[in-house]
Amino acid sequence: MMLSLRELYKIGRGPSSSHTMGPERAAKDFLSRTEGAARYRVVLQGSLARTGKGHLTDRAVLGVLPEEKTQVVFDYDTRELLHPNTLVMTAYDESGREMLSVTYLSVGGGTIREAGSAPVAAENVYPFANFSELRAYCEKEKIELADVVFRFEDKSFRDYLAEVWESMKATIARGLAQEGVLPGNLRVERKAATLQSAYLDAPTDHTRLVCSYAYATAEENASGGVVVTAPTCGASGVLPATMLYLQRRDGLSDEQIWRALATGGIVGNVVKTNASVSGAEAGCQAEIGTATAMAAAAVCSLAAHSLEITEYAAEIALEHQLGLTCDPVGGYVQIPCIERNAVAAMRAIDSADLASVLSGTRKISFDLVVRTMYETGRDLNERYRETSEGGLASGYKVC
Ligand code: SF4
Repeated sequence: MMLSLRELYKIGRGPSSSHTMGPERAAKDFLSRTEGAARYRVVLQGSLARTGKGHLTDRAVLGVLPEEKTQVVFDYDTRELLHPNTLVMTAYDESGREMLSVTYLSVGGGTIREAGSAPVAAENVYPFANFSELRAYCEKEKIELADVVFRFEDKSFRDYLAEVWESMKATIARGLAQEGVLPGNLRVERKAATLQSAYLDAPTDHTRLVCSYAYATAEENASGGVVVTAPTCGASGVLPATMLYLQRRDGLSDEQIWRALATGGIVGNVVKTNASVSGAEAGCQAEIGTATAMAAAAVCSLAAHSLEITEYAAEIALEHQLGLTCDPVGGYVQIPCIERNAVAAMRAIDSADLASVLSGTRKISFDLVVRTMYETGRDLNERYRETSEGGLASGYKVC
């Protein structure tokens, strides 16, 4: 069973779906269950504690729970957790007695789960467990992946995808219009406008254009702007960059883009259902790797490629990011994240092209590479899973 793509594509503020959107949702859920509470205590654990300051997790929680009544604690010590992104919320009444305590897990892409229960406010709409079941259904019904999405989602889902696409384009437009330095002490300069100017100087160099769109979204995310999780905030630049580039290059309709978003979305859903899209759980391969697979499949949809080519493109895109670590410098979603979105957007387009040429020679299924990604992620040392304790995050020294 798979959840609705509304759970995958969420419109909200960055910089991190699991560190800001998830905790914000958890706080809203907890607030609605604790009417009349006199005091709140929120304990952030695991990656939420270690990179929570840079990711603005405390601000996300305090934007919902009454700030004057809420204590946020960063628990750096507890290691045995149900999930690397855990937060414990407790409410007390006037006499100091505990009213309710809930452990929430922010499992990636802004989705939250209460410990020991099903995802909050989520709905299973697809009767498929993995890509091979999806593929068998498409072949039996003689339909495309996008048709499966529109068949199983509700009637207003097309409108929802239209809203998602408008939001993606608006984010790119805002990002291209900004210059200056991103928030935080890394003093990272915005580069989207520079890349766009470089393209205008040499309009045959399309790489610069794709990258400018990816930078625009990733920079907006890093500054706490509104983005669409695809599948996460940190990886939100890959899919929109490829879509806008191809729409403008080939004069494609919005309807074609919606179908491509549906195709990429169901591919992301397969990963989210069978593995993880959380950098804290499985490294950056789970975020950027999944985003690249989604974008590669979406590119195939725009090119009207077959299901075989689409699966191959998604598989190539994810397979060659196996082992990709998550090591955000200073806990900010900036280095290596922003540049990585641009590199991934180029890779998605190349993966689709490679698959179209080599169609029929594939040995590895998408399901196998998803399983392998998850196993690899679980084997990654914790230092490389969004703790900012290893890799670039430990090697780079802020001046
Ligand atoms: S390194 Fe990758 S997974 Fe980690 S925060 Fe950056 S984009 Fe997300």
